[in-house]
Amino acid sequence: MAGLSGAYDETIGLIGGMSWESTALYYRLINERVRARMGQLHSAPLVMYSYDFQEIKEMQYAGRWRDAATSLAETARRLEAAGARAIVLCTNTMHKLAPDIMSKITVPFIHIADATAQRIRAKQYRRVGLLGTKFTMEEDFYVDRLRAHDLGVLLPSADERADVNRIIYDELCLGVVTAPSRRRYQDVMAALVASGAECIILGCTEITMLIGADDTSVETFDTTAIHAEAAADFAIG
Ligand code: GLU
Repeated sequence: MAGLSGAYDETIGLIGGMSWESTALYYRLINERVRARMGQLHSAPLVMYSYDFQEIKEMQYAGRWRDAATSLAETARRLEAAGARAIVLCTNTMHKLAPDIMSKITVPFIHIADATAQRIRAKQYRRVGLLGTKFTMEEDFYVDRLRAHDLGVLLPSADERADVNRIIYDELCLGVVTAPSRRRYQDVMAALVASGAECIILGCTEITMLIGADDTSVETFDTTAIHAEAAADFAIG
């Protein structure tokens, strides 16, 4: 699907809704980036499929990852058929299924952990603290991807991980942002820094709703903003 003017035609395909609170941020950030770079009334050509997140969450917690993989891969294939020239999966957690998605498409897959790791390496950091869902923090798919970029990864303690995860699903994915939860995240980040983290990855696309640069003494890397920027830059070419 070519852009009308031919100025650029790299339509991007977003797999969103996980949660829609963060997909809404992606939509704004991608379009703001395109406008900043191209000026006038330019905005991003894109197609999107937005999931019912309750269904996704139930699959995650029941361990029905094969069902989720089949669905996400089919969605990516349909977005490509609809004209997408790259696929953007708007969640860190579901990158667990990135290989399944990539096997079903012929266009590039813009990986959120690669985009984030490249930013971090460009700043010469080597040891990162990682916040995200329990899946992102505790399984290999994300941590190993960061390690492949030569990054050491520090994780919160088990109690801290449980709170970080609970606040994501029970609050942030519902658009709920509270001061006690911000304080809890601040404490978790302070502990990571005390353990040697040189920077913190906000490795869940809703955390940016709760945490900003002032909430910790080290630099934060917001995966939502970084991924959206990578998507916009692909669209512009
Ligand atoms: N958006 C979140 C993430 O970036 C969590 C929701 C999900 O499980 O997809 O990991």
